Amino acid sequence: MSEEPREKPSHFIRDAVVEDLQTGRFKGVVTRFPPEPNGYLHIGHAKAIALDFGLALEFGGRCHLRFDDTNPAKESQEYVDAIMCDVRWLGFDWGAHLYYASDYFQQLYDWAVQLIRAGRAYVDDLSADQVAEYRGTLTQPGKESPYRSRSVVENLDLFERMRRGEFPDGTKTLRAKIDMAAGNLNLRDPVMYRIRKTSHHRTGDAWCIYPMYDWAHGQSDSIEGVTHSLCTLEYEDHRPLYDWYLDALGIYHPRQIEFARLNLSHTVMSKRRLLTLVEEGLVSGWDDPRMPTLAGLRRRGYTPEAIRDFCERIGIAKADNLVDVALLEHCVREDLNRRALRRMAVLRPLRLVIENYPEGQVEELEAVNNPEDSLAGTRKVPFSRVLCIEQDDFRDPPPPKYFRLSPGVEVRLRYAYIVKCTGVVRDAAGAVTEVRCTYDPASRGGDARGRKVKGTIHWVSASHSVRAEVRLYDNLFSVPKPDEVEDFKSVLNRHSLEVLTGCRVEPFLAGAEPGSRYQFERQGYFCVDSLESSPSGLVLNRTVGLRDTWAKIEKAEGH
Ligand code: ATP
Ligand code: MG
Repeated sequence: MSEEPREKPSHFIRDAVVEDLQTGRFKGVVTRFPPEPNGYLHIGHAKAIALDFGLALEFGGRCHLRFDDTNPAKESQEYVDAIMCDVRWLGFDWGAHLYYASDYFQQLYDWAVQLIRAGRAYVDDLSADQVAEYRGTLTQPGKESPYRSRSVVENLDLFERMRRGEFPDGTKTLRAKIDMAAGNLNLRDPVMYRIRKTSHHRTGDAWCIYPMYDWAHGQSDSIEGVTHSLCTLEYEDHRPLYDWYLDALGIYHPRQIEFARLNLSHTVMSKRRLLTLVEEGLVSGWDDPRMPTLAGLRRRGYTPEAIRDFCERIGIAKADNLVDVALLEHCVREDLNRRALRRMAVLRPLRLVIENYPEGQVEELEAVNNPEDSLAGTRKVPFSRVLCIEQDDFRDPPPPKYFRLSPGVEVRLRYAYIVKCTGVVRDAAGAVTEVRCTYDPASRGGDARGRKVKGTIHWVSASHSVRAEVRLYDNLFSVPKPDEVEDFKSVLNRHSLEVLTGCRVEPFLAGAEPGSRYQFERQGYFCVDSLESSPSGLVLNRTVGLRDTWAKIEKAEGH
């Protein structure tokens, strides 16, 4: 991974790690990133990944990738593969430390037997609904199950038979015997195992009872020698149970620390909701460039560097908040500004004919590849009598303060000459189909020779340019907090995708590699789509426009 230029601000988790090393509570740092393979990773996961792997790197420790694969009904190998691909793409490496909770099923089972023997777990016949009903509420204590007092011998027998598959799904559970009156509901005899006669993507039909998250997680951390088990705030109330299990078993005890999850404006982040979008065809897939998934962001043109930078800037805190998507866009814009090669592309072409430019003549004009990077050099762009310019760059009549092309007005053609509009050609309906102009041969390279030329526009040569399809993206949701709307699908942005099929780009872009990124001058940053090509060849996704809305927000908020 490349060096981070900015100094990292500290946060309470780093402080806790430093303290644990100083006091000798732990000798080193071992973290884990524990995704459930029931969907693709999203930008929220990137925050957790950057924290887990980042701390391990910083303290010379290690970070494990552990699949929390305890719910076979929703999990699959496709998701496992996608998650590994995305973590690597972000720039992190788990080395030899790839684990699966399912690798520990036998050990977890043996530990459950140990708790039964110690009189601290029992087989319950209550249905899921009854278990919920008996649990009580925050203000009312729960009620003990009539099966709570089963003997150890009976519990051992029943648990063994649960495992052998003698009972139908949902008819029995194994529960920890803790305290039905506990203030923390998670301690009211939590379920440890449920019966699920479902094949598992790794263990096949070896098991028909599966451990609950709480029973699997801490013990998996313990087996792997994790020191700091970092998770999001919703697990804070689970920590007493995490601790209870480890203490009851008397095994090595990692430390769980919680932090606020990332919430991003104008999108949803729960995998359940993202899955709904995919399954109902509201997006083209998990990697739709509008999705907040890493696969979607990658296809959109985001760089791992920009995402890591974003994760660092949002910081780690203990209180939930909503991060404006404009900050994420700001990060990728900054990164691409440094790196992306500049090109000219005309998204909505309008024919521009230079009346006094010789037919058949072609000049190769020199254009700068990246003004931010002197090593990026220059390239030649062909110039000829018939060009394409943006429809937006011509107006007749011109609105106030319009400095682009209109009848009688001069503009500079980027890297080329100054031209003056002499007239237009209209179709039967009155729409402009062609703009006519003359050029000043002495103004090559933009030399205005004393006169005032306010506007500069981009162009491509009509016959030399290459056809391309360009996809413009906007926020997937039209409101900042779609999660707070009763039906989140009702606030999908109907204009989140605009497909332009007749675009013309510089010949230099023909055969551009999938995934390569460019700045189209005056337009924004674009990335060659890695999955699809149009009949004409190129498909380009707009990563982000040039206008930085974050800078404005920051200023308004007085940052
Ligand atoms: P979801 O609610 O979207 O289904 P999850 O928490 O169930 O997410 P997991 O696969 O279990 O998804 O998450 C793996 C890790 O990533 C967990 O440690 C979880 O706390 C963390 N994580 C998930 N979402 C976010 C988020 N929005 N911000 C920060 N960390 C997150
Ligand atoms: Mg989860």
